[in-house]
Amino acid sequence: MIKFLTLFIFMFHASFLYSNVLKYKFFKKDSYKGSVTVYNFDEKVFFDLKEIAKMFGARVDIYSVSEKIVFSLSGKKLIIAKNSVFYNGVESINFPKTFLIRGSRYFVLSDIFTNNIFTKVFEFRCDVDYSKGTISVYENINVTSVKYFYYVDKSRVVIYMTEKLNYDVNLVGGSLVVTIKNGSYMSAKDYINADDGVIKDISVKQEKSSLKIIINLGQRYYNFEHKIEEDPYKILIDLIAAKDDFPKKIDNNIQSSVTISMPDNIIPVKKEKYIIVIDPGHGGKDPGGKVIFGKPEKQINLEISKKLYELFKNDERFDVKLTRDDDIFIPLYERSKFANDSKCDIFISIHNNSHPRKKNENGFEIYFLSEKTNDPWAVEVANMENASIEYEGGVFDYNSAALVLHSIARNEYINQASILSGYVAKFMEKETPFKNRGIKQAAFYVLRGTYCPSILVEVGFMTNKSDKKNLDNKSVQKKVANAIYKGVIEYIKRQK
Ligand SMILES: [Zn+2]
Repeated sequence: MIKFLTLFIFMFHASFLYSNVLKYKFFKKDSYKGSVTVYNFDEKVFFDLKEIAKMFGARVDIYSVSEKIVFSLSGKKLIIAKNSVFYNGVESINFPKTFLIRGSRYFVLSDIFTNNIFTKVFEFRCDVDYSKGTISVYENINVTSVKYFYYVDKSRVVIYMTEKLNYDVNLVGGSLVVTIKNGSYMSAKDYINADDGVIKDISVKQEKSSLKIIINLGQRYYNFEHKIEEDPYKILIDLIAAKDDFPKKIDNNIQSSVTISMPDNIIPVKKEKYIIVIDPGHGGKDPGGKVIFGKPEKQINLEISKKLYELFKNDERFDVKLTRDDDIFIPLYERSKFANDSKCDIFISIHNNSHPRKKNENGFEIYFLSEKTNDPWAVEVANMENASIEYEGGVFDYNSAALVLHSIARNEYINQASILSGYVAKFMEKETPFKNRGIKQAAFYVLRGTYCPSILVEVGFMTNKSDKKNLDNKSVQKKVANAIYKGVIEYIKRQK
């Protein structure tokens, strides 16, 4: 009887194991290279470590005492700890479980290899089709991003590349299809919901020997133009709007559930007086980002903001307001509400950066709004700054606030904010000791709710010794304020 029971348990166990172990087919440039054993656990797929490493051509070292796996590939390292993965010391991602040991075999989580950070660091993309049981590797990523911009008379799609690639553009039914020969994208697919009348949406689809960007056209679409530019290589697709159709569409598209009316004028025009709102980040119970010594972020933000306030105050072309002039806590939505109630023309939020791991990171960054970004650092910064919400008790619905403004107006503000960012960055680079880390886009709540061109300046890194010294210095703060002020002046000069 015991024998039977043992046999039964063994059989049950064996069949249980069998149901969890499968083989996935591995493809490189669409040619079959072999199979990889996978283990299904907790609705996740794990690859046999040795087999996947062999397919990638990677070297594997297992440190069983410290419970770490090191994957070495073309001079770069992937360090897999129990609950986190370090991508060549650049970025890290946390996972609930990174590997399993079954018998003497190690199995590693498939998600470790299928994200954009992996693609960016190792310069090839790994796609897993869980329904078909395939792993596909695409080397030489040469299309890095697809961006969308809205203008009054046209919408623009920009496809950024690392090299000059051949492409063609074809009208297929209600869509414009851009086919890039030998194009290899950062991720298997991508999607942008433009919904501006000219473009409905944009989707990116990786195919075997080409990359397809499919632009679904809206009712306002009239014609298209395209060209390729250098430095960096990019394809610009302009979708021209039908002229007579423009103004009435804006009103028609305001959502009925919205209680706040459309701003009078979404297109910036020359004014007698510009209303400018300066927003010193954080305050009160919310101190802001990590500091290595000295003043907290909230205080540095306030000191710089006050200096900027003085400059605008003494210029009769401006009517200037501060969201706070003291060490008090103000929720993010109240900051944008204050700006909207003030009917602001320009909104500038002042912040300072910190890096959770690397003390050598330094310099300034200028952000404007995007609901979506491919840049993991920009996401990290937005998450740090948005964390202020934790102090608010979470009663405000930020998503419905974002819906208030129709995409046409929002895109125009984003467009203007990108121009303003450029001018501010120019003077920051020229006149302050902070290094230019670039103009970036991310989903900052405080920018999302504000109905005017809005930017967020991360002046410097408080986790960097030299940046911090400069940030605490009153004459450097003055230089920063002066640079932002000059950027704004140059921006308003271009209004007609
Ligand atoms: Zn901040």
